Formats: sequence, structure tokens, C-alpha cells
Amino acid sequence: MVTMSWKVEVDGGTCIGSGMCASLMPEVFELEGATATVIADEVDADETVLDAADSCPAMAIAVKEDGKVIGPRP
Ligand code: SF4
Repeated sequence: MVTMSWKVEVDGGTCIGSGMCASLMPEVFELEGATATVIADEVDADETVLDAADSCPAMAIAVKEDGKVIGPRP
């Protein structure tokens, strides 16, 4: 079985440093000062990553599958 992997990006210019993503998924996001950075930019497909993207107040997180943006969800 092949596990789908997603690419995760944070737009540092848009991030307002709420820390929501890092508290939801500390294994993927890390707060560095007032900006979140991505520790693991390739992650196994996991609904929680989409939840993090959805709940980012600045919409600064992008989740991509094969180059196509799948999160945040509309
Ligand atoms: S949830 Fe969004 S605004 Fe908050 S730290 Fe993460 S990327 Fe930045």
C-alpha cells in the first residue's frame, strides 16, 4: 500500500504567530519568534494537517497533494 504524502507550506509573510498550528501539530509546525515554520514539509496524508490549515486565522498554511492545493478547505 502506498501512503500518500502531502507538502506543507507556511507563508511567513502572512503568518501572525498565533501558534495554533504548532499546538495542533507540533511534529509539523514550530513557532520561531512570531512566525511559524514547517519542520516536516512532506507529511503522510493526515486530516489533522488540513484541520491546522483550516484553523489558521491568517490562512497562511497551504497543504498540497501533487502540487494541487487541498487545504485550507473552502
Ligand atoms: S496557525 Fe497560522 S498564523 Fe498561527 S502560527 Fe500557524 S501559520 Fe502562523
